[in-house]
Amino acid sequence: MTEINAKIKVVPLENVKIDGGLIGEKNELVRKEVIPYQWMALNNEIPDADPSNAIENFRIAAGESDGDFIGMVFQDSDVAKWLEAVAYQLSTNPDQELEDLADSVIELIEKAQLDDGYLNTYFTIAEPDNRWTNLEECHELYCAGHMMEAAVAYYQATGKRKLLDVMIRFADLIDDKFGSEAGKMKGYPGHQEIELALIKLYNVTGDNKYKKLAKYFIDERGREPFYFNLEWEKRGGKSHWRDFRKMAGAEYYQAHKPVREQEVAVGHSVRALYMYSGMADVARETGDEELVKACRRLWNNTTKKQMYITGGVGSSGFGEAFTIDYDLPNDTAYTETCAAIALIFFAQRMFHLEARGEYIDVLEKALYNGVLSGISEDGRRFFYVNPLEVQPEVCENRHDHKHVKPTRQKWFGCACCPPNIARLLASIGEYIYSYSDKEIFVNLYADSTVEVKVNDKDITLKQQTEYPWDGNIGITISTDDDAEFTLALRIPAWCKNAELKVNGEIINITGLEDDGYVYINRNWSNGDKIELALDMSVEKV
Ligand code: ZN
Repeated sequence: MTEINAKIKVVPLENVKIDGGLIGEKNELVRKEVIPYQWMALNNEIPDADPSNAIENFRIAAGESDGDFIGMVFQDSDVAKWLEAVAYQLSTNPDQELEDLADSVIELIEKAQLDDGYLNTYFTIAEPDNRWTNLEECHELYCAGHMMEAAVAYYQATGKRKLLDVMIRFADLIDDKFGSEAGKMKGYPGHQEIELALIKLYNVTGDNKYKKLAKYFIDERGREPFYFNLEWEKRGGKSHWRDFRKMAGAEYYQAHKPVREQEVAVGHSVRALYMYSGMADVARETGDEELVKACRRLWNNTTKKQMYITGGVGSSGFGEAFTIDYDLPNDTAYTETCAAIALIFFAQRMFHLEARGEYIDVLEKALYNGVLSGISEDGRRFFYVNPLEVQPEVCENRHDHKHVKPTRQKWFGCACCPPNIARLLASIGEYIYSYSDKEIFVNLYADSTVEVKVNDKDITLKQQTEYPWDGNIGITISTDDDAEFTLALRIPAWCKNAELKVNGEIINITGLEDDGYVYINRNWSNGDKIELALDMSVEKV
């Protein structure tokens, strides 16, 4: 497929009800355990764990408390991801107490915002005169992006605009500051994330400037001269992290050449995959074919040459990075939980560009293996690093295994992964189905019910399955009137034998080599039943 298929969309979260199964259990775990636990973590209430101080930092910045900023320079993003997870959960399971708590956090965030719209507790508390002087290391645009995502999610879930308006003010400040126009800074984020967030902001506000700014950040990266060298010289050679600049060259930030010319995945894997997701978003919103081609190349390299069998990516602990093709050691694998999550974001966006099953195959693999490995059954312990082989005594005694923890941890000084899992699993309903004007795609198999409008008819699909524990899936259609549309079912590439029936009649599965979906176009009636059996025999890979 070469044309951008901008017609395939995410089904809004409130239209998907997860009824049970493994995905349902994990979704519920986030609601019942992970969100309350992480609230405790953000408030330094987990015994014997590194204190987060993230909420206290906002209190200090808001003038409600005294003290020094504690934590990573990007600590604000943990609050943002927690709020985003809360928003997703509120859109499917209203909870007044939780909403009140979130509202109080949002009020605090609003108070921490400065008069000109600036919002970042680290700089407000610790370095008020040094804003925008160290984009390379200090994550201002990254934190802004995460809070924009939270703001959009919270607005969509509750209809409340307060956080959205806060982030619109900040986005407008950023837009005044950065861009290719004369007088603006030609910088871009040291950690990508704001690119995809700006597209979300554009989608809810309809304001083109956010789309334009996202595109600017994508296209400015990789131009000569290297921006991070210029700002470093301007700072008089000062660094935030000791020795960081020795490790991180332009490739670390995917800034070694313009992103449209990049052939292979390099550098910090979460940065890379957030950026590829942003590129796919910008491509979709602008119809930019050249950018789609770049996304496809980077997808192919990432998933065909630099991905583990678990969907883990970023094999090197040094720089949390991609290395070279097929360099995938089992024991020193870094494969950060966030990288698997970011791969899921990229995969879903690629699917929405061109509806190919391979994207969802990778998404599914990363979800069940690379992501779920990162959280314990009780939702209170987490892996940051997800190796395929662990020998505890080796991890403790060998410097090149120091990043590998033999057991999941209560929390981390750098706690990017736990709230990232929370927001992904809280929004997992968005990944099960997709739709267009005339099609409903069943991407993931999970016990769930979806309501969508296709061909102007309201359709409900009820999916019943024990998947992934077995491969039998039943789908029942509910509709007031007969409705013509295409039901597209993913046949995973790993499945060698699949059997499909509609109302008991066998349907031949053909054409899969093209895109991995079987398309059933017919005039559907209320009560029509689809049975799909995916052979799940154990195989050696
Ligand atoms: Zn992480």
